[in-house]
Amino acid sequence: MRPLSEVRDLVLDRCSPLAPEELPLHEARGCVVVDDVVAEADLPGFASSAMDGFAVRAADVASATEDIPVVLDVIETVMAGRPARRSVGARQAIRIMTGAPVPEGADAIVPVERSRFSDGTRDHDETVAVLARAEPGQHVRGAGDDVAAGTVVVPAGTVLSPALVGVVAATGRTTIEVVPRPRVGVISTGDELVEAPRGLAPGQIRDSNRPMLLAQAAAAGCWTVDLGWVRDDVDAIAAALHRAAFRCDVILTSGGVSMGEADIVKLVLERMTDPEWIQVAIRPAKPFAVAEVDGVPLLGLPGNPVSALVSFAVLVRPALRQMAGRSDLDHPRLRVRAGVALDRRPDGKDHLVRVTLDHVDGVLSATPVAAQGSHQLWATAQADGLAVVPDGDGIAAGEEVEVMVLDLGALVPPQPSAAGRRLDR
Ligand code: AMP
Ligand code: MG
Repeated sequence: MRPLSEVRDLVLDRCSPLAPEELPLHEARGCVVVDDVVAEADLPGFASSAMDGFAVRAADVASATEDIPVVLDVIETVMAGRPARRSVGARQAIRIMTGAPVPEGADAIVPVERSRFSDGTRDHDETVAVLARAEPGQHVRGAGDDVAAGTVVVPAGTVLSPALVGVVAATGRTTIEVVPRPRVGVISTGDELVEAPRGLAPGQIRDSNRPMLLAQAAAAGCWTVDLGWVRDDVDAIAAALHRAAFRCDVILTSGGVSMGEADIVKLVLERMTDPEWIQVAIRPAKPFAVAEVDGVPLLGLPGNPVSALVSFAVLVRPALRQMAGRSDLDHPRLRVRAGVALDRRPDGKDHLVRVTLDHVDGVLSATPVAAQGSHQLWATAQADGLAVVPDGDGIAAGEEVEVMVLDLGALVPPQPSAAGRRLDR
């Protein structure tokens, strides 16, 4: 058996970051940016009005009140998208809409709500009564208010959020170089598997791993390729793997990599490539395989659903995120309180106990979910994290235990009214 950290390193070694691609901005959301994005110009690029109202000289309206308004001549109206033709002189105003450039001569905006506009029959008859004083700069969005020219708005290595997509667009770009999302193919093997809606004959089960692993890959930020189910047949599996390698950046299989007779995936990989059969010193999820099909990495997960889920969390997910160019590879680890004793016997493995995380007297504590068998997926699905109980005699109640947090929502203290975090499952 090999320690988890060593196997993780081995897997990471096989799964290098993908070559960068230039993508349309909105498609790059969630991807890692390759080069610094620099704003060449100020953002905003010019001083503009933050309100619909009147561009004035603050000094002109210093005495304005509701009772004794200051009346100004309105010499022009300016909309967003084009500058005013005239500049604002003494006792003059330009009617201005949100986003329009502040005219020369003006240094403040009086909002519509602080004015009474009288719409004259001819241009020069238009006046505005200003009902409140304005400070210089009032309701003016200054040039460079958000970003000064020359600023690195997105450093290389950043994961592009929707807001940053907007920022990059504001700098004038329509595409960006990023590490693309890996295309992750998932294939199931096993003669016992049946897909709904077909009924089950005795001994048959549903293929739960494939949808689950596809969902995990999507949740890890990847594109997914459903490669379907293949029966336990050497030629069928070999053909499916070649097809998979053509379409995907990485292939995930589940089942067929343990010690059983029908572990056909093992046979096929032995013929095709130079696979490594690994016994990881963890429970669950001991068997694991790493191989390469036509130059594409293949990660072989165990068939038991809980083992497949855990293998993905601790070995596959870091590899996929590395392929995606990310540096935050692993689920975060937290030290929390063991809510109950986490008993075990020495067996050379670290036990990854599926736990819920709950706030007890303001302290985060871990409690195992009701069932821990590697076939008991529903019980596992209630877990917020994997508590690492190292080889030995367990952890006493109240002691500290390290947890890999699968569901970050679990860390949010309960809200007084809301039904809470479980709503999003
Ligand atoms: P194997 O590693 O192929 O011997 O499979 C171990 C266990 O996982 C067996 O009970 C299989 O029936 C089960 N299993 C394998 N593949 C899947 C799958 N795709 N969905 C659900 N269970 C599976
Ligand atoms: Mg099998």
